[in-house]
Amino acid sequence: MKGDRGADQYKPSFRPYDDAMIKKLLLALLLLIALFLIIIGILMWKELGQSPKGERLARIQQSPNYKNGAFQNDPPSKMFTSGDASPKEAPKPDHIERAPVKPLPAIKTALKDLHRDQDLVIWFGHSSVLIQQDGIRYLIDPVLDSRFPLSLAISPYKGTDIYTPDDIPEIDYLIITHDHWDHLDYKTVLALKDRVKSVVCGLGVGQHFEYWGYPSESIHELDWGESIPINKNTKLYALEARHFSGRLSGNPTLWASFMIAGPRNIYITGDTGFGDHFQKIIAQFKSIDFAIMENGQYNPSWNQVHLMPDGLVKALDILHPKYVLTYHHAKFTLSRHSWYDPLENIYQSSKDKPWNLLTPVIGEVIDLDAPKNTEPWWRLN
Ligand SMILES: [Zn+2]
Ligand SMILES: [Zn+2]
Repeated sequence: MKGDRGADQYKPSFRPYDDAMIKKLLLALLLLIALFLIIIGILMWKELGQSPKGERLARIQQSPNYKNGAFQNDPPSKMFTSGDASPKEAPKPDHIERAPVKPLPAIKTALKDLHRDQDLVIWFGHSSVLIQQDGIRYLIDPVLDSRFPLSLAISPYKGTDIYTPDDIPEIDYLIITHDHWDHLDYKTVLALKDRVKSVVCGLGVGQHFEYWGYPSESIHELDWGESIPINKNTKLYALEARHFSGRLSGNPTLWASFMIAGPRNIYITGDTGFGDHFQKIIAQFKSIDFAIMENGQYNPSWNQVHLMPDGLVKALDILHPKYVLTYHHAKFTLSRHSWYDPLENIYQSSKDKPWNLLTPVIGEVIDLDAPKNTEPWWRLN
């Protein structure tokens, strides 16, 4: 009888997984993970850039903004505060539309046919902007290649990727506000190398450009408050911002806002939290004709290093520019708000304010001599 056999005598004739097989499966899984990491590493190695070293690092170490082996904000700022996105402050997940459902409207302007003597601004979505003033052409933070790595996890919205590096004409000054991936794109700057005369960036960011083959004499790295002459009418300043940096982390390079101080003063915030620096900047330059302001990818927990909607309005009250274009929205979802919230917030907040808010679609030419009113295009999507 079966019941006569003791449990210790029972030996199954078949075990689906023996120990040796489990070990082999685990080993195969580990090898697969290792292979995946090696492939990712090879693909990203160049894109990671390089940390500043040698003479560049020695210069950085002289900066008053560099302490204990990293650049620092003044006052010290946290990437995350304990306030986090509480349910009161952040929209509930079922009420937000983090990405648009339909393609966003955009205009394909023939950039290579633009006349240099036309003073203009063209926004390409997120933080990429082309500026022409006084015959000089500037390109800010171009991220125009939607392939790896940004699109690995973060793809541009449909309709927002109609410009590629091939569309970009000769650039006099490529301005990079900081080395985060959504501002400094390896593939874009590599593709533009032969069309860029000079790069202007914060201290240390030039190391990436040198590593990627840009001639060192074309790279101008500035500390906050430093400037380079552009022509007899214009100087380009790197100015304070409240943010952080690093392709991975660690604040090894300097983040900055920029002022094209020329026939018009054109201010570009880069990524920044609200801070005293806005007071200092308006005290130095007296008036701002055109302000390009960070607006989007915010979260109450990040308010020391990104502008929240109320911080943006406070900053504009201080800077009192004639015209305002906001950016850092409408291309990538990097935060939890609805994709159109930044635009709607500033549109509502600007109604009784002295500045003129411009809300062009991607690729639309803003004529700096006579900026036209623009429509709340995001409401149609
Ligand atoms: Zn950033
Ligand atoms: Zn950013």
